[in-house]
Amino acid sequence: MASMCCIVVREHGGYDRLALEQREVPTPAPGEVRVKVGAIGLNHLDTWVRRGVPGHTFPLPLVTSSDASGVVDALGTGTRLADGLREGDPVVVLPGVSCGVCEACQSGLDHLCRNYHILGESCDGTAAEYVCLPAANVAPRPASLSEPEAAAIALVFQTAWNMLVRRAELRAGETVLVHAGLSGVGGAAVQIANALGAQVIATAGGAEKCTRVERLGAHHVIDYQSKDFVKEVRSITGKAGVDVVFEHVGEATFGGSLKCLARCGRVVTCGATTGGDVKLSLHAVFFKSLSILGSTMGSKGDLRRILRMFEQGRFRAVLDRALPMTDVQEAHRLLEAREALGKIVLTV
Ligand SMILES: [Zn+2]
Repeated sequence: MASMCCIVVREHGGYDRLALEQREVPTPAPGEVRVKVGAIGLNHLDTWVRRGVPGHTFPLPLVTSSDASGVVDALGTGTRLADGLREGDPVVVLPGVSCGVCEACQSGLDHLCRNYHILGESCDGTAAEYVCLPAANVAPRPASLSEPEAAAIALVFQTAWNMLVRRAELRAGETVLVHAGLSGVGGAAVQIANALGAQVIATAGGAEKCTRVERLGAHHVIDYQSKDFVKEVRSITGKAGVDVVFEHVGEATFGGSLKCLARCGRVVTCGATTGGDVKLSLHAVFFKSLSILGSTMGSKGDLRRILRMFEQGRFRAVLDRALPMTDVQEAHRLLEAREALGKIVLTV
């Protein structure tokens, strides 16, 4: 049997818990496709899986990572792929696995499936030379994207799209505040909000990041290291506030995010990288008719539409660097230190 290399977490902890292991190359079951992975995309989720989350159990040992791009390598018996995909074709991996037969799945809300799994979070992920996936979990790689770029978009774009389009229902002419506009989800949110016709205010830490966020389509960028974002938003909007705040930071920003909202404003959150225990005054919520919306991942149908928008050149991947798979520990360090100017990808 041929063997392959993969990145496995067996116990939570520091960077040394990211082990390169050899496993047998998997055989695709009926209905599955085997992808020869070319690039693996990292997300903050990877660091949570490595470190562990209090009160949450990950099914260790776990092959890490949710995003990847590669080529169709083999098909299981009877497997049929969408879009006429065949062996050898370049593909993007769709990171959410769902049952396909429940009410949520059949309503196009597969990310709300009770049997939903995120690759590299509750089932083995993409950090391997070969992965076997349900046929539903691959889509053609947009011609506008290189293999490393294509590994850096799926999870963050489907998350940001679901937040802005499905949950907050951001409309043309509205104003949105996007926190950390050069982070993975932040960079996706800036581009999606711009494409929807909204006025985009984004934050970033430091002059270099601010310039890059502006190039992504933000109309105003606030350097949160030197300025108070609540005051700046008030000044930019003439005290009116924003219609939507795109939250994923948590404790460090959430109170300020609520203060930035206009009447009938919506804050939508997908994460809490600085902690999730926020203080909340209900007075502001009811007096200003605010909505607090949660969101996790997004549907595969929406993700296929997003990939088409990449194909049309409407969005671009924000890639900081590609490192060899053997440098996974350094990649985690860069992510946690917020040193990266965009996404980090591992090449296989
Ligand atoms: Zn389902």
